[in-house]
Order: sequence, then structure tokens, then C-alpha cells
Amino acid sequence: MISLRGIEKRYEMGGEIVKALDSVDLDIGQNEYVALTGASGSGKTTLMNIIGCLDTPTAGNYQLNGRDVSSLDESSLASVRNQDIGFVFQSFHLLPRLTVVQNVMQPLVYRGIRVAQRKEMAIEALVRVGLGNRLNHLPNQLSGGQRQRVAIARAMVGSPAILLADEPTGNLDLRTTAEIMELFHSLHASGNTLVVVTHEPDIAAHCHRTLRVSEGKIAEDISRPGGSK
Ligand code: ADP
Ligand code: MG
Repeated sequence: MISLRGIEKRYEMGGEIVKALDSVDLDIGQNEYVALTGASGSGKTTLMNIIGCLDTPTAGNYQLNGRDVSSLDESSLASVRNQDIGFVFQSFHLLPRLTVVQNVMQPLVYRGIRVAQRKEMAIEALVRVGLGNRLNHLPNQLSGGQRQRVAIARAMVGSPAILLADEPTGNLDLRTTAEIMELFHSLHASGNTLVVVTHEPDIAAHCHRTLRVSEGKIAEDISRPGGSK
């Protein structure tokens, strides 16, 4: 479903060229659960952003579900993102003035779904992440773990096939991290494809496949069939 060939991303900064990604070839199939590891600055976020259609490569080909998305313009990319991809960030990225349920309804606005149904879908997603009793709170009235669960509900509300998470537990304590990983585990069990950037060995141990990124390349690709606990 995800197929990258010769993907390159270069940045030019003050005359110096940085190759954030360098000829990356990568296939990720449906319902895989992949951990992305590697040192800071190795290219993990750049790779996630390209997989998630938040960014385009400077060279190479990206096929998502058989469609070439490597050279789409911004509005086509936005529509692919909205349909196919859910994103979870380390710092949650919730809208501070919107309530929990309004935050989760947000991605559905662009799908032409009526407000009553949007609300129903958002509540269902929030119940699923265990926050059915926090619908009308504001993000700053929640703990970090609860905020991340709201972000996960928002990522999943439109039933995208692919969930991408960039260091989703980087701001959370150990116990909350375990809860979030449990949630990812159940999303995977219900058929989603997950790619998670993480530094935690425990998290990588949940996954079926670990990719290590080093200096813009996939340095290691280890599969452990049935590796999920
Ligand atoms: P990671 O997520 O593994 O820490 P990144 O993908 O964020 O790494 O960054 C990879 C490399 O690309 C780094 O050297 C970083 O400085 C560079 N980089 C990332 N984004 C930009 C940008 N917008 N402009 C210039 N350089 C960038
Ligand atoms: Mg990063």
C-alpha cells in the first residue's frame, strides 16, 4: 500500500545542501505495524512527513494505494491526507479553543458530513479511546495522556487506513506511554496500518517490524513475524 522508490529529500540552507533522505526504497503493506527508530536528525520526521503526504520528495517515486502521489499539488495532497491518513504528533497539536469533541470532529468538516453525524462519529471515536466522559473539556483541562488520546481519536475518526505517529509518547510518562501503546495495539488488531517513530525499546518490541534510519537511509529493516505481544 505504501511504496517508496529512490526517495530523496534535500534542503538547501545558506548554500549548504542537506540530504535529509537519500535514495530510500521502502514497502509497507496493509496492516503492518512498523517502528521507525534512529538518532535525532537521521531523517525520521522527514520520512514520516513524506509518507503522510505532509511533504513531497525532491526526487523519487511514491505510490500510495497504487496512486502516484510524489508530485501532487498541495490541494490534492490535502485530500489524500484527509481520506487515507491519520497523524499523531509528539505535542498533540490540538486546537486550544475547541472542546475535545470539536477537535475530533475537525477532520470530518472537509468531507461534507453533516454536523450531527460528525458529532456522533467523534463521540464514538472518543468512547473508543476511553474519553467518553471528557467530551466538553478544553485541551488544557486534560492530562498529557488524555490529550494524546484525543489526538488519536481525531486521527482515527474518519477511518483512515494508515495511522502515522511521530514520537507520540515523547512527552508522556511511562504509565501513560503504556496506555497509548495499548491503544495503538488495538488499532492494529482492528486492521489499521501503523507507522510509529519511537525511541522506546518497549514500543519497538510491540511492532512486527523495525526500521532504523541513519543519515537519511534505511540502515536496518528487521521483521519479527508475530512479534506483537
Ligand atoms: P529526525 O526526525 O530523525 O530527528 P529530521 O527528519 O527532522 O530528523 O531531520 C533530518 C535532517 O534534515 C536534519 O539534518 C535536519 O536538520 C534536516 N532538516 C529537516 N527539516 C529541515 C528543513 N525544513 N530545512 C532544512 N533542514 C531540515
Ligand atoms: Mg523527528
